[in-house]
Amino acid sequence: MTATHSTRMLILGSGPAGLSAAIYGARAGLAPIVVQGIQPGGQLTTTTDVENYPGFREVIQGPWLMEEMQAQAEHVGAKMMWDTIVEVDLSQRPFRLIGDGGTVYLGDVLVIATGAQAKWLGMDSEESLKGKGVSACATCDGFFYRGKKVAVIGGGNTAVEEALYLTNHSHDVTLIHRRDSLRAEKILQERLFANERIKVLWNKEVSRFVGEGEPHGLVAIELKDTVTGDLSRVDVEGGFVAIGHHPATELFRGHVELDEDHYIKVEPGSTRTNIPGVFACGDVMDKIYRQAVTAAGTGCMAALDAERFLAEVDFEQVAQAAE
Ligand SMILES: Cc1cc2nc3c(=O)[nH]c(=O)nc-3n(C[C@H](O)[C@H](O)[C@H](O)COP(=O)(O)OP(=O)(O)OC[C@H]3O[C@@H](n4cnc5c(N)ncnc54)[C@H](O)[C@@H]3O)c2cc1C
Repeated sequence: MTATHSTRMLILGSGPAGLSAAIYGARAGLAPIVVQGIQPGGQLTTTTDVENYPGFREVIQGPWLMEEMQAQAEHVGAKMMWDTIVEVDLSQRPFRLIGDGGTVYLGDVLVIATGAQAKWLGMDSEESLKGKGVSACATCDGFFYRGKKVAVIGGGNTAVEEALYLTNHSHDVTLIHRRDSLRAEKILQERLFANERIKVLWNKEVSRFVGEGEPHGLVAIELKDTVTGDLSRVDVEGGFVAIGHHPATELFRGHVELDEDHYIKVEPGSTRTNIPGVFACGDVMDKIYRQAVTAAGTGCMAALDAERFLAEVDFEQVAQAAE
């Protein structure tokens, strides 16, 4: 027989956004259920050093931070389910979601915190050097490359913003782009070209990230000219892949309003989506900041928005019953 779990607050995703929503939801007495998804703990479980999450003087480890967040959520009463949602019905409340083994989850409110994944180039050398010089987040990791030569790969807004950000730490930033012009907004391009710390290599694509030494780390990036086919090499210790992100919203297409980049649309200054009772927080609705602390912050907002929504609905029901 198919199992069914009902809760006042159903949360999808167990990254900083989902777990923060769970902590606040549990402390508001909503007994949240968190469906953890394929990556319990979210993106921070794929990294090592985290130095910018407030509250910790020393560098902490991403997986450890997420274990602590989960333990805190469980300690105050949230329930974790190791399942992945494959189907949603948001046409009426309680919302009905189905896990990949057929388990049914019913929630009076739904908090979507399914995150986003960075796009990578998809080569073996990139995979083996992730966290050892290759990164997809300058805000997260740029500080570790103070005074070192770094490169950014990409040509859109994210790549230009990352290159500009990295000049806070490095005098020598190379932007590698496979075309002869950038897609980034004009104003960002002007700031980029005016910055003496940044040089641009046009018509170049990465053919290999080169790692050496003990501990093993990035020392160079091998490039291929997209016009002539010529090979070259740029010596860098940090390589930042900035070719965009995929918000995890396929499940909600046609159910919840998405923006042109497929992020969930929320009312400005809130986590409310276009469906009353459905809230979104973290990277799945934020294409600007994409940090653990901002995800946790909007997770808190989602739980508070959800709690207020339920209080209003409950009040209306009591008032109607009394008429
Ligand atoms: C390598 C790396 C290093 C980083 N370093 C830092 C750093 O130093 N500092 C910092 O502030 N930020 C850092 N970040 C960014 C930070 O990790 C993210 O901003 C943050 O994790 C976003 O949190 P989130 O909860 O919105 O989503 P995520 O962490 O992406 O979590 C999404 C969750 O949704 C779940 N999910 C997805 N689909 C489903 C589904 N269908 N059903 C159920 N669950 C589902 C997943 O299993 C996962 O648990 C880093 C990111 C990466 C990739």
